[in-house]
Amino acid sequence: MVKKNYPMCAHCPVKTCENRGSRSESVLSLEKAPPFCPMKLMPGVYRAAMEEYDKPAVREFARKASVQEFQCYERLGDGLRTRLTRVEETIQFARKCGYEKLGLAHCGGLAHEAGLLTEVLEKNGFEVVSVMCKTGAVPKERIGIKPEEKIAGAEMWETMCNPIAQAMIINESKVDLAIMLGLCIGHDTLFIKYCEVPLTVLAVKDRVLGHNPLAALYAGETYYKRLRNKID
Ligand code: SF4
Repeated sequence: MVKKNYPMCAHCPVKTCENRGSRSESVLSLEKAPPFCPMKLMPGVYRAAMEEYDKPAVREFARKASVQEFQCYERLGDGLRTRLTRVEETIQFARKCGYEKLGLAHCGGLAHEAGLLTEVLEKNGFEVVSVMCKTGAVPKERIGIKPEEKIAGAEMWETMCNPIAQAMIINESKVDLAIMLGLCIGHDTLFIKYCEVPLTVLAVKDRVLGHNPLAALYAGETYYKRLRNKID
């Protein structure tokens, strides 16, 4: 059992907060929650959070998100089944929110997928503003990259990824919702920092695993056992 005293839901063996199987009128007991449970360590946060949900626009947004979550399942004779892909969910949720104009911030390595996604979104009635990471055509030297740190080779031109410009273009285009597609780690962090409109993520970059980073964890007992070691 972990002894440190900060929130660590990922180490929680009981997940008391789920109150699974209880009836809706039942009262939650925190007795079984571990000492590192944030509900025990930071009770004031929950009051502050609920005050945010009491703001009508926030409450309505949260309600729609939960309805969307509900619609991703169907109850059949043999139990619950999932029924919607993330692309479908994104479309349904955007419609629920009344969004018409979407902003797609995508990686150059996923230009093909960006085209496919744009086609699907446009077919569903959305206007799609899209900006690729290399926009601006600024050479990597501008941010201090050395010749030996260029992927294409020391002598070659290499355009830097420009997530700040991507975010600024999406902000200026007054889209209702931004969608991130396959931005690299760090570039995605900058995009999130500068993006001023509601933002969702369709996929993150994983060059090895077809943009499915969780595959390394799912195969962590076999092909990716090395993840248990300290990573250089
Ligand atoms: S909130 Fe508390 S009970 Fe819920 S997962 Fe985290 S530590 Fe466990």
